[in-house]
Amino acid sequence: MSTAAKVYLDYNASAPLCAEAADAMQPWLAGRVCNPSSAHRSGQRSRAAVEQARGQVAELLGCPPAAVVFTSGGTEADNAAVWGGLGWPPRGHLVISAIEHPAVMEPAAALRDLGVEVTHVPVDDEARVDPEAVRAALRPDTALVSIMAANNEVGSLQPVEKIAAIAHDVGALFHTDAVQAAAWIDLRPLVAASDLLSISSHKIAGPMGIGALYVRPGLDLAPLVRGGGQQGGRRGGTEATAAMVGFGAACARTLASRDQAVVRVVALRDRLEAMLLDSIEGMRRNGGEPRLPNTCHMSFARCDGNALVARLDLDGIAASAGAACASGVAHASPVMEALGVPAEYLAGALRLSLGYETTAADVDHAIDVVPTAVHALRAAGLEAVR
Ligand code: PLP
Repeated sequence: MSTAAKVYLDYNASAPLCAEAADAMQPWLAGRVCNPSSAHRSGQRSRAAVEQARGQVAELLGCPPAAVVFTSGGTEADNAAVWGGLGWPPRGHLVISAIEHPAVMEPAAALRDLGVEVTHVPVDDEARVDPEAVRAALRPDTALVSIMAANNEVGSLQPVEKIAAIAHDVGALFHTDAVQAAAWIDLRPLVAASDLLSISSHKIAGPMGIGALYVRPGLDLAPLVRGGGQQGGRRGGTEATAAMVGFGAACARTLASRDQAVVRVVALRDRLEAMLLDSIEGMRRNGGEPRLPNTCHMSFARCDGNALVARLDLDGIAASAGAACASGVAHASPVMEALGVPAEYLAGALRLSLGYETTAADVDHAIDVVPTAVHALRAAGLEAVR
């Protein structure tokens, strides 16, 4: 048993920085890196690097570079879309799904406190949003519909293009959180259908602390971060040159490697899932198809998900529990509850998420170790009860 995780199966939390991004960032981390807004030649070299990176993000999205607004990450991009979509001061009605990331849920709750009416569209037991349920939720004053492209816990994919068209039927704006989708799915059709789309660098093996919001050309979105006039006044603050350059390189690498990675990873994920289902009784798979090719989300009866993650860490596997832990008490995630996962499975969630670097040997190790860990925890739980 080792003390450090060697097999990384937590790509949905963060994909480790790729060599392409690290190499591209290097010159911008050391020496005299200048403010891209400075008029002198050193400043203008930074400006050129930032604009080249914007072009690389735009390539991944299939949009003009001017439609890309850099943010501090996916959370800020989502906040900018939700706050901006309701205008300033906020007005109108907001529609979101019951399984949005907190980066959408929490601004929606804050808007509700300010008097905005918010409708949460439910999902089915496979974590899918029914476009007709979105249609039924719409009102003449609906200002924004925000439905994620891919769920971060169970990986379910939503019919974004259909839902966007339904939102547009009543003149509402449509935003999608594509933070988890970017590594695995061609975003261009989603961008073409949407007014606003969020992505995050560290989910595609770029550096943390940088992301982007696509803003449809011609859409005058109220900025979330004001001051300084950078990015045409759409997001104030001195541009983070190194982070942007790394993000741009990660976008280029995603475009170059994604198709092969999808084919390889989906086979590994399916083998992992089938073998675990075969060797562990009292296990259920959460979420249905279509879903991200890399995500395997499951729950075990009579097993605590947080204890399982801690045990797997000692066994050399970095994974996530699907349940958040506050004050040492395990709470079922709102996503599990929205799916209607049976009570005996709520506390025992485990998410294994694969990435471009995951190997067959990594998956073999998980197939060896996860059943033993689940059985050991169950046995320990029985002893404690006796
Ligand atoms: N949206 C989704 C679906 C996510 O999975 C995450 C990160 O976990 C975010 C938004 C937030 O992105 P960031 O970590 O870049 O703030």
